[in-house]
Amino acid sequence: LASRLPQVGTTIFTVMSALAAEHGAVNLGQGFPDFDCDPRLLDAVNAAMRAGHNQYPPMPGMPALRDAVATKIEALHRYQYSAGSEITITAGATQAILTALLAIVHPGDEVIVLDPCYDSYVPNIALAGGVAVRVPLTPGSFRPDFDKISAAITQRTRAIVINSPHNPSATVWSAQEMRQLDDLLAPTDILLISDEVYEHMVFDGAEHQSAARFPGLAARAFIVSSFGKTFHVTGWKVGTVAAPAALTAEFRKVHQFNVFTVNTPMQVGLADYLQEPAPYLQLPAFYQAKRDLFRRGLEGSRLRLLPGSGAGSYFQCVDFSAVSDLNESDFCQWLTREIGVAAIPLSAFYGDGFDQRVVRFCYAKRDETLRAGIEKLRRI
Ligand code: PMP
Ligand code: GLN
Repeated sequence: LASRLPQVGTTIFTVMSALAAEHGAVNLGQGFPDFDCDPRLLDAVNAAMRAGHNQYPPMPGMPALRDAVATKIEALHRYQYSAGSEITITAGATQAILTALLAIVHPGDEVIVLDPCYDSYVPNIALAGGVAVRVPLTPGSFRPDFDKISAAITQRTRAIVINSPHNPSATVWSAQEMRQLDDLLAPTDILLISDEVYEHMVFDGAEHQSAARFPGLAARAFIVSSFGKTFHVTGWKVGTVAAPAALTAEFRKVHQFNVFTVNTPMQVGLADYLQEPAPYLQLPAFYQAKRDLFRRGLEGSRLRLLPGSGAGSYFQCVDFSAVSDLNESDFCQWLTREIGVAAIPLSAFYGDGFDQRVVRFCYAKRDETLRAGIEKLRRI
């Protein structure tokens, strides 16, 4: 069979989680919490099922959840989306991003991604018939390089995908950088896919600069988020897309023939839970404490925290060059098999496998899991 995705194997997250399970390693690789969500959210979903919310919801999602999402965006970013025509509930951010690309990319269109980037973007662009144009973030700092982005724009550029807080580098775009993007795109028709799944994980008093805060960007953006990240329920696969009505109309044309809609009781439960006083506002303090526990634990070890990494998301990147000459991928294999801690090689997020002796750890874990991982990492 001629593959549609000849270069693609099994995702690094699945590979490393399987290896971690096989070796009984502490899994600080794949990004998911090893603790449960707020029991009130479980109660809300349970109540929704028992109240009979078990048939198809409306195609774009339950109105109550779309209302809650629009209200939340307005409260946080002062931008008003119409819940009816501009918010859609998706099967996680993954489906949202693929669906947005399928809706806007014509064969041969170019889509700019910034390397390193989340591993679904480039295969998604290929499935949509587009050509991914990989522009590197500045090596070392992972900041956007607007000269390079500008140089990559051609007549065929249909869209650019950005992601802040960033997976894997754990950096966060500043308001100034968002303004620079706004200025760069202003004279163009280029659309924006803004992957904001870690929107509520920004630390040290900084604020998430959503594309919704910049009217020029919001007017051309699909803003993607994920309840999996925000409420510690990655397995539920419920996400959102906010986009201007004309873009949402195209999005929904694809969405209706892709998944049609997303499971009802989770949507009803999430909508009820969002009526409580902003549960996501506790996330920065919650995850910052975990980040700091993990960082302090590595002090005095031979792993060097990457400056700038850890400003947001729930990842921390470290340089292991003082420990080993192995490439990132082999180092992660060795670390999992011999030391008993799983991590993700940064090279997996680059088109050409660029190797900097840097790996990514996920600290969305119980404190005892983090302590168990730290104890092993301090021995290498
Ligand atoms: N984008 C980024 C940057 C991610 O890290 C992830 C995964 N965790 C996703 C999208 C996919 O999110 P979801 O699980 O909601 O599909
Ligand atoms: N986004 C998660 C990570 O970066 C993994 C999601 C997945 O396994 N597809 O680790």
